Amino acid sequence: MQIYLNGKFLDEKEAMISPFDHGFLYGDGIFEGMRIYHGRLFRAARHAARIRKGMQMLCLKTEQSLDDLIEVVCELARRNEIFDEGYVRLVISRGVGIKSQVQSDGQVMEVSDLGLDPAKCPRPTVLIIVSRINLYPKEWYENGLKLTTTCIRRNSADACPPQVKSLNYLSNVLAKLEANRAGAAEAVFLNRDGFVAEATADNLFIVEGNKVVTPPTSDGALPGITRDAVLELCEDEKIEAIERHVTLSDLYGADECFLTGSAAKVIGVSEIDGRKIGSGRCGPITKRLMDAFQALTMRDGIEIIPSETANTEAVKN
Ligand code: PMP
Repeated sequence: MQIYLNGKFLDEKEAMISPFDHGFLYGDGIFEGMRIYHGRLFRAARHAARIRKGMQMLCLKTEQSLDDLIEVVCELARRNEIFDEGYVRLVISRGVGIKSQVQSDGQVMEVSDLGLDPAKCPRPTVLIIVSRINLYPKEWYENGLKLTTTCIRRNSADACPPQVKSLNYLSNVLAKLEANRAGAAEAVFLNRDGFVAEATADNLFIVEGNKVVTPPTSDGALPGITRDAVLELCEDEKIEAIERHVTLSDLYGADECFLTGSAAKVIGVSEIDGRKIGSGRCGPITKRLMDAFQALTMRDGIEIIPSETANTEAVKN
């Protein structure tokens, strides 16, 4: 598999990142997960906008424009012949710390620096991987998956802001460990005020009667690209959808619950902390939105290869 690292397309075995890279040493950087469906890079402009915001927050600057990076993603997909059910991971880290050191012969040399200071990192590291993904088993898309709530609180907005997809996913990892221990597929974060925020890698929605409800991003939810798409689809489908605080009792008492994410797409929830949700299978509104999302993936996104070829490839894949 070819990957892209700092301006070069390389075989994955040749790709090396320095141990002094601040992404590795300090989790200093951002990442993005995108999808390729039917020969198209889904919602590329929205992903680019989120990357831009993250870079602005972290004061990260790359040599390439985001448009160029999106073109690199497309080229990498072509090189790896991934035209459907593709997953793209784009990482921009702070890069390697460098300091000047005077040698015994009086010459000034540049050497790697271990310190935290981002000002010592002149060039961010840009890494792009395009691969295939099937996050959850097919039957979960019919029957729903199990959730657990976690005692780990969602990051506060004044700490590691949940709106930025930073390389600091430790609380998500800790919560996922709890999900594994509880035999659940995903864990739900509450925020410091006790309201539901989101899951470790997905946004969360509930259905109350005919109404779809999701926590506002100010409650600690990432502004998910799939979340946005689903809110738009609700409008198209004439389903009322609102952003509102969601409490634990809203969650446990919901008629339906589903998660959204680039990797998971739209997936129903059957059970939360041992409480059966609705019928205990994917609910009717969830199913409608899953189908509408599936249809959206057929038409949305920038073309990586001409659509006729994509359809042949989709069959091949
Ligand atoms: N929340 C978190 C914490 C995530 O990591 C993700 C995955 N990017 C999401 C929500 C879903 O966002 P998106 O639909 O943009 O993938």
